[in-house]
Amino acid sequence: MATTTDAPATAARHAAGFLQGTKQLLIDGEWVDAASGKTFETIDPGTGKVLAHVAEADAEDVDRAVAAARRAFTGPWSKMSPSERGRAIHRLGDLVMEHAEELAELDSLDNGKPKAVAQAADVALAADLFWYMAGWATKLKGGTVNPSVPYLPGAEFHAYTLREPLGVVGQIIPWNFPLLMAAWKIGPALTTGNTIVLKPAEQTPLSALRLGELALEAGIPAGVLNVVPGFGETAGAAISAHDGIDKVAFTGSTEVGKMIARAATGNLKRVSLELGGKSPNIIFDDADVDAAIAGAAQGIFFNQGEVCSAGSRLYVAQEHFDQVVEGVSAAANGIKVGYGLDADTEMGPLVSQEQFDRVTGYMAQGREQGATPTAGGNAIQRDGYYVEPTVITGADASHAIVREEVFGPVIAALPFSDVDDLARQANDSHYGLAAGVWTRDVSKAHQLAKRIQAGTVHINTYHVFAAELPFGGYKQSGWGREMGEEVLNNYQETKSVIVAL
Ligand code: ADP
Ligand code: MG
Repeated sequence: MATTTDAPATAARHAAGFLQGTKQLLIDGEWVDAASGKTFETIDPGTGKVLAHVAEADAEDVDRAVAAARRAFTGPWSKMSPSERGRAIHRLGDLVMEHAEELAELDSLDNGKPKAVAQAADVALAADLFWYMAGWATKLKGGTVNPSVPYLPGAEFHAYTLREPLGVVGQIIPWNFPLLMAAWKIGPALTTGNTIVLKPAEQTPLSALRLGELALEAGIPAGVLNVVPGFGETAGAAISAHDGIDKVAFTGSTEVGKMIARAATGNLKRVSLELGGKSPNIIFDDADVDAAIAGAAQGIFFNQGEVCSAGSRLYVAQEHFDQVVEGVSAAANGIKVGYGLDADTEMGPLVSQEQFDRVTGYMAQGREQGATPTAGGNAIQRDGYYVEPTVITGADASHAIVREEVFGPVIAALPFSDVDDLARQANDSHYGLAAGVWTRDVSKAHQLAKRIQAGTVHINTYHVFAAELPFGGYKQSGWGREMGEEVLNNYQETKSVIVAL
């Protein structure tokens, strides 16, 4: 195995320092090798070459991280006041912004996404999430209740509820927004007083390690946030089955989400899941068509289409179908696909060879089933995992391209003429993560928002993410919600305390 890396680190002016040398695990505030001594390579998907070598955590390392997290939970973290806890989380948000360029470069190199996008979206949203969650630390509270008990007539009670942290939480995150997914998970777990064992995706472990370091710098005690990069079948499985872990929070594929839910039954740890999607984006005859075309393109092509809530099914009112397909196709053809660190790049490569094979496989299968690309439809011939932004017409509701999550820049456009039939089609999916509705008719928009089975419904916009807004799925898109006040429920127990008066 090579000990040097061959990625273009010179372009990474801000991240070059962190990329030096083998990256270790962060356990109990210390950088340590894996117990096995093993490392794995993380690849720059823009070149296909090795970016860094990373210590590979396995069950034994997870055990050590859980022990450290347990000590921190009963020790220093529980002794910090909510105000101190909140201020440390707020400082972490500040540090994320202070290191915005470095973190954006790390995610661009590790994931492939354009650095400018990483900085404007991933990094800014991560910082904002920490600032938002920091405020909750001092605002968590239970309530008072006056119980009347039928079998104890006349008895009087005073009762109240306490909200308590769960303990040690395991968090397993994907590769599409490496830093942001870490923030979504870490922020609410910390503000509610839990300690963490975080496993970033094997494709993109770097920014989570840097974030762990920044958390220490922010004053979050050693052992509160442990970061253990490794593979799903080993480190991830060890987390989801671990008896010393009180809760597992997962973001990733529906298939793996089901495995995690099963593994968690051993000790009935709490489970929250943010899973896949096949989200409908719907353009009515009375929509602002230009805005809808731009929104449909952004809804699928943002982040190379590697977004669980991507608007991948485009339903267009029959009378606008040709115009919209032409418009979205023109937008697709106009996207500058390139290396993430190049300033003019608008779309980067897919994250991995595996993802490249998957997406090009769907493109080929679509064609075999009789659908036609009106833009793209092919891989781009160069080193790295680049594909063309793709628009597909002529598919029907039974085709894989309409039913399955591609997780790439591929949209299937279908015409509709009747609103009831449209609503049925929109809900004809195992998934229920997001949707978009484009219309100038306010009543129609809100009526449809009510009918669509999805955790997020956008009206005349798409891909709005904010720390204040709960995000998550109906049906097989998940359990529980990320962000907003709602996510705090994922990380707290409720205790009822009853006093006889
Ligand atoms: P993808 O297939 O797009 O990579 P996954 O759902 O497989 O998405 O991966 C998301 C996260 O889940 C990653 O951190 C991965 O390592 C982890 N993971 C994969 N398989 C398992 C598993 N069996 N148990 C726990 N975690 C897993
Ligand atoms: Mg997988």
